[in-house]
Amino acid sequence: MLNDLLATRVNPDVPSALSGLFVNDPDPRAISFAAGSPNESLFPVAAVKEAFNTAIDTQGAHLFQYQSTQGNPDLRAKLAARIGKWGRVTTTADHVILTVGGQQAIELVAKALLNPGDEVAVEVPTYVGALAALDLYQPTYYGVGLQADGLDLDVLETTLKRHPGIKLLYTVPDFHNPTGITMSVAKRQQLVALANRYDFIILEDSPYRDLGYDQGPLPAIKSFDTEGRVIFVSSLSKILMPALRTGWLVADGDLLAAILKVRQASDLEATGVTHAAINAYLDANDLDAHVTVLKDHYREQCAAMVAALRAYFPDEATFTTPAGGFFDWVTLPESVDVDQLLRTQVMPNAHVSYVPSTNFYPARDVHNGMRLCFSGLTPDVIDAGMHRLGDQMKAAVRG
Ligand code: PMP
Repeated sequence: MLNDLLATRVNPDVPSALSGLFVNDPDPRAISFAAGSPNESLFPVAAVKEAFNTAIDTQGAHLFQYQSTQGNPDLRAKLAARIGKWGRVTTTADHVILTVGGQQAIELVAKALLNPGDEVAVEVPTYVGALAALDLYQPTYYGVGLQADGLDLDVLETTLKRHPGIKLLYTVPDFHNPTGITMSVAKRQQLVALANRYDFIILEDSPYRDLGYDQGPLPAIKSFDTEGRVIFVSSLSKILMPALRTGWLVADGDLLAAILKVRQASDLEATGVTHAAINAYLDANDLDAHVTVLKDHYREQCAAMVAALRAYFPDEATFTTPAGGFFDWVTLPESVDVDQLLRTQVMPNAHVSYVPSTNFYPARDVHNGMRLCFSGLTPDVIDAGMHRLGDQMKAAVRG
């Protein structure tokens, strides 16, 4: 009954895109390729503990006072310099907002921009958390497919011609979640030109950009922005620790002011104590050296995943070979429904899990793909799990 009193945007009949993503298998043999978490054995716990102590010792009671809506200025300056160096974005601390994870940044942008029914373009497949945040503002979605070098710009342009009202495009250009694909530099530049021509805003979400196994990060889409219409979002979740809940965005002009206004109403300000600790961590430690250690692990894990896909999956399956990040994307013949298989065959018989493709499509209408995450598993476990999963997929393809 009380459901009648809820806002339509939280329609109880429609589950959040983020709920039910990971199925829990209590079996001791269970191996999960579903959860997209960073590898916690690599968290720099001692250094971060030390940094919290340093922040408290240095600032005392004042550290626990209300601080600022935009967030710790020293940390903002460091992040502005970092995206300047690694992403070629010319910006300053004044244009950075610290957020509660990149997730909050996405949600704040959606809240600042979208009226119900507004037209939004997203990559398909796309990050489920972005769908969960955008869904709350009831947009009309247009999905644009991905090629090996990122978003299909021809399809995007056709879509823009048909739907000139599209006001926002959400993209994950670096080691994309869920496919692992990276957008080429040429496409980044062309995308900004399209945004200028067709008058839309680009939300560039790039939490994995530092995790290229053998290459440094590419210039951000934001580095080609001439009109202040790209909002850049990143996060320390994947390169430091997710529970620090520290993300950040870079925006300009009226967009920056609008997002700050929304942020103030949402939670006044972000977690100042944590930000002072992260700032102290960055003063005392070399984040890039830490990232190099992470990349060495993830490179090896990804290689194990790709080798296992080649060895154990049916020839009919196609898959991505990511150059960074946490994910691989597998496409099976259209006759295979991986959602149903997960529940009826794969989990009960092989005790392996993955995230079915339906979750990554706004209309939840594509059933023959899966996201496999390797970030938390050793190469041996990846091999064992993929062997079991591959056998299931061969059986499914043969019908
Ligand atoms: N964007 C993408 C593409 C992600 O994969 C994630 C985390 N899974 C986020 C944003 C949000 O992460 P966080 O809020 O921890 O920064």
